[in-house]
Amino acid sequence: MKTIATRFVLLTTALLLLTSAAGAQGTDFSKIEIKPTRITNNFYTLEGSGGMIGVLTGPDGVLMVDAQFAQLSDKIAAAVKTLSNGGQIKYLVNTHVHGDHTGGNENFGKMGVTIFARDELRNRLIKPNPNANGTPASSAPAAALPVVTYSGKLVFHLNGDDVELIPIAVAHTDGDTLVRFPRNDILMTGDYFRSAGYPNIDRANGGSLKGMIEGLNVAINLCGPNTKVIPGHGATVDKSGLVAHRDMIMAVRDKVAQLVRQGKTLEEVVAAKPTSDFDSKIPGIGTTGDRFIGQLYAELKTSN
Ligand SMILES: [Zn+2]
Repeated sequence: MKTIATRFVLLTTALLLLTSAAGAQGTDFSKIEIKPTRITNNFYTLEGSGGMIGVLTGPDGVLMVDAQFAQLSDKIAAAVKTLSNGGQIKYLVNTHVHGDHTGGNENFGKMGVTIFARDELRNRLIKPNPNANGTPASSAPAAALPVVTYSGKLVFHLNGDDVELIPIAVAHTDGDTLVRFPRNDILMTGDYFRSAGYPNIDRANGGSLKGMIEGLNVAINLCGPNTKVIPGHGATVDKSGLVAHRDMIMAVRDKVAQLVRQGKTLEEVVAAKPTSDFDSKIPGIGTTGDRFIGQLYAELKTSN
């Protein structure tokens, strides 16, 4: 027979599990509205819940970048229809595998949208990492899987633009794509650049610090004076926003590297606050600072 103390521990554990599940899936999607922002004559962003969506409209059909969560697909499709005078989404590009960018894939796939992504992303949808509690995660359904995959640059010629899908080898994940709209002078980076919070190097999904810096340099070199840089999360910026972000990553990296060389533990590195020079300049930090320090520590520790 269980003691009261044991029952209490079990109850607390159950509550904790419930709380963390609610944290991951606690969004009430019925309350989320899709907010469009006009960037150019025929390009819009859509904000709802999750990663930023890009929509290129025109007579050749709609190309959409990223899909947010499955619960929002109908609202997203309705918003696109309004923006494009009744147009249909023809193509969907996934910038990376995370659920707040690919969650709508299955719904859009069933609507007849052709999904494009890197081979690595498709493989991760088929064989996802185990769940946080160690249980195996299930494969994405067939309709959610990209139909066209690529390992080099791919170009869509439509709606007066020449949209380039540019693979960024291993940055936020190992399946990142930078989407460039040269005529509209727009870059969409997915999450390997974010203007809200600190970077997220998802090492479990193949991301790397070195690749993230290289990817930022690719984007910086593609920027002209008026290029609009649309991140996976956060406000649209210009070239200077990308440069400041890259320089911040390198500055924090150098501080963490020095502490790693001194043999500090992760706890000691976090306590040394290596991001303190930047904390007041970065909006929406939340817990991303400590996460970023942990990721830098893990990468620099193994490369030492
Ligand atoms: Zn992401």
